[in-house]
Amino acid sequence: MLSTIYDYAIIGAGGAGLHLAMAMLADAWFANKKILILDKDTKKTNDKTWSFWEKGSGKWDTIIEKSWGKGKFNTKEKSIDLELAPYLYKTLPAINFYNFARKKITEAKNIDWIQAEINTVNKSEKGIKIESKQATYIAKQVFDSRIDKAFAVEKDKYFNIQQHFKGWVIETERPVFDTTTFVMMDYQIKWQDSASFTYVLPFSPTKALVEFTLFTTDLIEYGAYDILLKKYVQDILKIDQYHITKVEYGVIPMSDYPFQKANQEGIMKIGTAGAHVKPSSGYAFKNMEKVAQKIINNLKNNRPPTNNILSKKFYFYDSLYLDVLVNHNELGESIYTDMYEKNSIQQIFKFLDEETSLWEDFKIITSFKFSPFLKALWYYLTGMRIK
Ligand SMILES: Cc1cc2nc3c(=O)[nH]c(=O)nc-3n(C[C@H](O)[C@H](O)[C@H](O)COP(=O)(O)OP(=O)(O)OC[C@H]3O[C@@H](n4cnc5c(N)ncnc54)[C@H](O)[C@@H]3O)c2cc1C
Repeated sequence: MLSTIYDYAIIGAGGAGLHLAMAMLADAWFANKKILILDKDTKKTNDKTWSFWEKGSGKWDTIIEKSWGKGKFNTKEKSIDLELAPYLYKTLPAINFYNFARKKITEAKNIDWIQAEINTVNKSEKGIKIESKQATYIAKQVFDSRIDKAFAVEKDKYFNIQQHFKGWVIETERPVFDTTTFVMMDYQIKWQDSASFTYVLPFSPTKALVEFTLFTTDLIEYGAYDILLKKYVQDILKIDQYHITKVEYGVIPMSDYPFQKANQEGIMKIGTAGAHVKPSSGYAFKNMEKVAQKIINNLKNNRPPTNNILSKKFYFYDSLYLDVLVNHNELGESIYTDMYEKNSIQQIFKFLDEETSLWEDFKIITSFKFSPFLKALWYYLTGMRIK
């Protein structure tokens, strides 16, 4: 028997769902609303590390692992220093975020967190009906982190890149890492001629995450990452003696598939399922925080929660960029080198945060080699491919 009709139900206690739940709890307007969170998982393991940039201090500073004010962009030919101020680059183990959210949610009286695998979400007379094998829940508005099944069927009509990576946390006997500076991208070692690089987060003088990342259409063999990581540690970092204390592997879909088309009245897709992961970079943590705030403002102002969440302009840029990466994957290094060489890191962050004006976009876009982007634009406009 159904006892509660929730005002809001959030399916998925991951990045997007917990950002939204915490933003609701932080706003007195929601104090008398009944909120439900449903997740199939316990969220008690550290399933990923989130890195992001923001200006100065922020909401998550008490739970981040480390932050950096300086970075580097490296190729075989050059090394570009990135002075981030007023930004900081921060890294946060997901488990810290889950635990932080769980504590806030447990303390609140108006929110229930139930472990349940949701199979269907449908409109009904009483509201939106959410069903697991064991139970049925009703809510007036649902926020759903499950990727719509249509993605698997229709994705090949769009540009799809997989951002896949394997990282080792390595520890050394001697102090070898400069903890003031992280490495955003290092193209000195690549997988064949692909868009691939190494990323380094030094946590202490003797401990760092070294991650080999590829932006390619296909995954590579699991063992291949180890060969590349070993080569980077030995040949570039010049470290012979080290222990691997942790391994992480991940795949982030980078796609211009319009995930948001699964939104319906009363059901809004969020996170990856709602196109809130930046298709050209795979970053989403800060964007999901921003989206949560926009949803809150929409609800408080009696607008549909989906109102004004996605930018058509940046979707268009991301789509052109994915076309170039799919068709000319070998250009990955030169695109990023042009971007980091000809623009300040502050402008790059602002652009990736989708906060730049048309004029600022123009300055960044004209730093890239024109021809592949013009070909992508022609295809976008006409559907015809220039060789
Ligand atoms: C390994 C990895 C590393 C990443 N690193 C970064 C990073 O450094 N910086 C950054 O900005 N972005 C990063 N991202 C991208 C993005 O931030 C994450 O993918 C983020 O977790 C997306 O949030 P989400 O809520 O959409 O998905 P998730 O966080 O995966 O949450 C979805 C939740 O829904 C639950 N769920 C799924 N199906 C059901 C169901 N049927 N019933 C009930 N519950 C269900 C899942 O258990 C999960 O808890 C990373 C992604 C991955 C995969």
